[in-house]
Amino acid sequence: MIRHDVTIPYFAEVDEIYNLACPASPVYYQIDPIQTVKTSVMGAINMLDLARRTSARVLQASTSEVYGDPIVHPQVESYWGNVNPVGPRSCYDEGKRCAETLFMDYHRQGNLTVKVVRIFNTYGPKMSINDGRVVSNYIMQALRGKDITVYGDGLQTRSFQYVDDLVEGMIRMMRTDDSFTGPVNIGNPNEFTILELAHLVIRLTGTSSKIVYCPLPGDDPRQRKPDISLAKEKLDGWQPSIQLEEGLKKTIAYFKSL
Ligand code: UDP
Repeated sequence: MIRHDVTIPYFAEVDEIYNLACPASPVYYQIDPIQTVKTSVMGAINMLDLARRTSARVLQASTSEVYGDPIVHPQVESYWGNVNPVGPRSCYDEGKRCAETLFMDYHRQGNLTVKVVRIFNTYGPKMSINDGRVVSNYIMQALRGKDITVYGDGLQTRSFQYVDDLVEGMIRMMRTDDSFTGPVNIGNPNEFTILELAHLVIRLTGTSSKIVYCPLPGDDPRQRKPDISLAKEKLDGWQPSIQLEEGLKKTIAYFKSL
């Protein structure tokens, strides 16, 4: 285990690189937005240069945020997105979009074997208690008997993927033929409103917590759901195997154990 900042070049002998560097929780990536852009853009350049020196395969953890507040629903990989370039989420969205550009240019110009996956909302055990994203927030609030904080009217949607399904999808992507670069969506297409999620967490934890409504953060996407046809076709029939209720039970058990 080496602790290293990806914005600084890194030298090692490697066969495969999975570039997941960058906080993914809006709370954390907005604390230092300049560093967030650097992490995505300079981090991508440094990992791509490392791949070039070592002839390694390199996978980029991109994001459903490249679709911004999507007008096309569900989101297909051919959709170019609807992203605000100057808003509070732009450091993450545009940083990740630029990283995708770099991956494709290193592939076209430098003949690198690159793989780009667009990850949709993912949750599971070992998330930080203070992560700030919706699943861990709701579970911790429920377990502590505190109010469940629903932002806005709670009618915005997300599609939640259990972490094991993501890991399986990424490993399968790394093993695809050199000619397949993606981008490919990796997510669970079952779509829920944020309010439905709150009620599900309340039921599964048996909490007496009440729902409170809080202001909606800026540029919060209204809807999000992956079209996973390409992943099914190219990743050997990959599809999510753990649905929300089962995944939440495992995650609740983990947070309880803490
Ligand atoms: N959200 C919420 N309560 C929370 C945290 C988040 O209602 O305590 C909402 C947030 O406004 C968004 C959705 O849940 O509409 C998912 O937010 P998250 O930060 O998990 O990820 P995002 O998909 O926005 O990057």
